[in-house]
Amino acid sequence: MIKATAYGVNGTKDKFSKMEIERREVGEKDVKIKIDYCGICHSDIHTARNEWGGASYPVIPGHEIVGIVEETGSKVKKYKKGDRVGVGCMVDSDGNCTHCMAGNEHYCDEGIYTYNSPDSGTGKRTYGGYSTNVVVKENFVLKIPENLDMAGSAPLLCAGITTYSPLMKWNVGKGTSVAVAGLGGLGHMGVKIAAAMGADVTVITRSSSKADEAKRLGAKHVVVSDSRESLKKHAEEYDFILDTIPAVHDLNLYLSMVKPEGALVLVGLPEVGHTYTINAGSLIGGRKTLAGSNIGGIKETQEMLDFCGKHGITADIEMINADQIDKAYERTVNADVRYRFVIDINSMRK
Ligand code: NAP
Ligand code: ZN
Repeated sequence: MIKATAYGVNGTKDKFSKMEIERREVGEKDVKIKIDYCGICHSDIHTARNEWGGASYPVIPGHEIVGIVEETGSKVKKYKKGDRVGVGCMVDSDGNCTHCMAGNEHYCDEGIYTYNSPDSGTGKRTYGGYSTNVVVKENFVLKIPENLDMAGSAPLLCAGITTYSPLMKWNVGKGTSVAVAGLGGLGHMGVKIAAAMGADVTVITRSSSKADEAKRLGAKHVVVSDSRESLKKHAEEYDFILDTIPAVHDLNLYLSMVKPEGALVLVGLPEVGHTYTINAGSLIGGRKTLAGSNIGGIKETQEMLDFCGKHGITADIEMINADQIDKAYERTVNADVRYRFVIDINSMRK
């Protein structure tokens, strides 16, 4: 087994602490990555606090991983020592079901997530990127474009693909009016990517202090959602709303802002036990679509990275050391991050 240093929690209310963990030995088709940076996604928080259920402790989160290839197995073809690479939300799947064959590994019944999944290599659970190294199958490793800053690229591995995939699926581009609800990690990537696709972008935010920054990120318009009335003024304005809000909210109100034939697509995933009540009339009147979207496949993730390389897109980040993760979680939950915390993994090596 290979040793790694990591930061994780042992229970829902636990603080992060340093742990020694093991990774499997490098197999024929494996790549060992020295991790340099890892983003903090709100999904890490939902999992560490067991808000979605199913957490198995210790939880070592982190699925926005970037680093340098340190070692490759004898049959690895795509990567060599020294390459700049990333790992997102998945590290394995069965590889031969209809979903995998279609490039949709994230629909595979045997899909293995980067953390909190069974790990056949160690017999324990998968542990994420809040750690000094990781061993991953070549097919789940992504190339980071040479022109992009490594730390700023980390959030592309989840926030980037989660917003790119639905924007592509719904053919967002020139002439599309897009609203992004919630200006956090996902939201700010959604704004940058939709703007690069040529869309007319609006940000819907509770935080009036983010209004000027929203425009710098690429939005043309900002709606401050401080009351129901402030949203009602924008009835039927948007072809597509990308909803990144991580808490329960009135979807009927958001559907009222969608144009006839348009779509409200949920990517934000509140904790279990909370439900939405949808009025059928919110959808039927304008033949509107209410949908959800989960990350994206591996091929599409590479396409997204190449798109970001072409357009020079990275995340706006606040870099922290590993001993500041608890504070970063509190600030993220309070929507007080501009716009993604990224852990400098070198701080774990000291
Ligand atoms: P984040 O950085 O915390 O951003 C969420 C933003 O939503 C906040 O900055 C805030 O923006 C707004 N917000 C927060 N609480 C709210 C509330 N109670 N009511 C209204 N707005 C609220 O989170 P994230 O990392 O972007 O993740 C967002 C959600 O997506 C999480 O639930 C996460 O688990 C989920 N997620 C899903 C996928 C997927 O594949 N579908 C992938 C990654 C993450 P303002 O200050 O602008 O209001
Ligand atoms: Zn994520």
